[in-house]
Amino acid sequence: MDKENYAKFLLSGMYEDKYDEYMDTRDPEEKKDVYEEVEALKLAVDSVDIHSIAKEPVWKDDILGYGDRVLSCPMCNKPITNVWSRAEYKPKFCHYCGQRLKWYTEE
Ligand SMILES: [Zn+2]
Repeated sequence: MDKENYAKFLLSGMYEDKYDEYMDTRDPEEKKDVYEEVEALKLAVDSVDIHSIAKEPVWKDDILGYGDRVLSCPMCNKPITNVWSRAEYKPKFCHYCGQRLKWYTEE
């Protein structure tokens, strides 16, 4: 697991624990306080936007099974389709999931 995913994983765990605490809390005043913490953690989870962190495309075996290797999105594993048939096609985002992409030559 890369560190962005791990951050999201940790925060999600904290959020779930806090949500359980909220469900178990009986006192209305206390419940209100715990709810605020639940909301804050939810915000934290959402703010780790793993799609916004640029990742290099990865080479995957062609799903059609012709033995070709296709450049694919590291997030959703779908091939990066050359929609414009350009020689140098390097989209900034995956067309399927919106993952930001970075390319070796880009610097
Ligand atoms: Zn994708």
